[in-house]
Amino acid sequence: VERATADSAAAATEVALKGEAPPALPDYPDLVRYRADGGYRLLESCRSGTLSFETLVERLEKSGLRGLGGAGFPTGRKWRFVRQEPGPRLVAVNADESEPGTFKDRHFLLSDPHRMLEGILIAAWAMEADEAYIFLRDEYADARAILTREIAALEQAGLAGGTRIILRRGAGAYICGEESAMLESLEGKRALPRHKPPFPSQVGLFGRPTLINNVETLFWVRDIVEKGPDWFAEGGRNGSKGFRSFSVSGRVREPGVKIAPAGITARELIDEFCGGMADGKVLKGYLPGGASGGILPASMADLPLDFGTLEAHGCFIGSAAVIVLAEGDDIADVARNLMEFFEDESCGQCTPCRVGAEKTLALMAAERWDRPLLGEVARCMTDASICGLGQAAPNGLLSLFRYFPEDVR
Ligand code: NAD
Ligand code: SF4
Repeated sequence: VERATADSAAAATEVALKGEAPPALPDYPDLVRYRADGGYRLLESCRSGTLSFETLVERLEKSGLRGLGGAGFPTGRKWRFVRQEPGPRLVAVNADESEPGTFKDRHFLLSDPHRMLEGILIAAWAMEADEAYIFLRDEYADARAILTREIAALEQAGLAGGTRIILRRGAGAYICGEESAMLESLEGKRALPRHKPPFPSQVGLFGRPTLINNVETLFWVRDIVEKGPDWFAEGGRNGSKGFRSFSVSGRVREPGVKIAPAGITARELIDEFCGGMADGKVLKGYLPGGASGGILPASMADLPLDFGTLEAHGCFIGSAAVIVLAEGDDIADVARNLMEFFEDESCGQCTPCRVGAEKTLALMAAERWDRPLLGEVARCMTDASICGLGQAAPNGLLSLFRYFPEDVR
């Protein structure tokens, strides 16, 4: 009921704060401070016609900005796809950050919320959308309090214009972050992923063409347009374009969100941004993309980390959650832990994922593993699952077989 009725900033304020101790909030730039720093001038340039849709999208394309939820789809191209569909069109912001090890969106929401909100309003202007939904991970109570307050401030200042920003609370399920499951949840239904195509750019929320972007993707829009696409593109390294916000955890001295060049290697990331390995720890391997992106050994710590650079090695960067493992960490335990997560979070809609995850765990509980059968089940999950959850679930196990044979039971 709360989620169904929280469809305006005012209602959201009431719902968000009713009966709950207000969370402690960090010192972030509120609307006044953000505007004093030039905030919302870009939005005004768009609305006044000083900046055209074409120029805006060209800059996004030239910058190389890609979907930073994890799939890396070119942002400018997605904006064009949606805009060319017949209206009315909608915008939906994926703030359901749930990939294990990923906490970058939370960092942006808590440290500079208006940069994303301006990105949302610019996207809504570009799509000629009069509604933009934010689907927020409900565990982020502090982000919810900030967004509730700042959306209301935007409305009061008349900056929302003709766009209603609607804040919706997630309900604690990982699958809600899968874009089509998110749409189902926003529509008030159980979050079962849809078959694609059609893509949400054609048939999205309430059947309308919908632009879905991740928090961080929208966060970069203002800087890219104001500072120029080259500023962003040149942030990369080893042939990659732009910045990546790595959520680094595990056996490093200084974990946290590290805004680093796209294409940086894991070794460089650890040494230059994380103060090196934790005391006494020796790198054994790392997860480049949270629970979904597989596991790479220390001997592959010099690969550039970006979209498309790890796939040949059975891995991917995804949401750039780098989890660092050290000698002494048992990779079989890691792989089992990951599979337990996916088995728990599978929505159960399709058999390869629902049964595959359960069967894999049962096979991994044996003292000696039936490796051919584990491989067959993994293949079935990868090939035949409906959505990315089931398709990526065996990646940790497959990496274990490929790179850490000494840890296989
Ligand atoms: P995808 O490659 O299927 O799609 C990426 C985006 O591009 C989607 O918005 C999709 O609609 C769009 N798209 C793709 N082809 C299109 C076309 N032909 N026309 C129009 N639009 C098109 O990837 P996905 O399944 O949406 O996402 C998978 C990624 O999500 C993984 O890489 C994983 O890392 C990431 N992920 C992130 C989190 C998190 O918390 N950030 C959690 C789970 C998974
Ligand atoms: Fe649900 Fe898993 Fe199938 Fe995705 S792959 S639709 S999470 S059962």
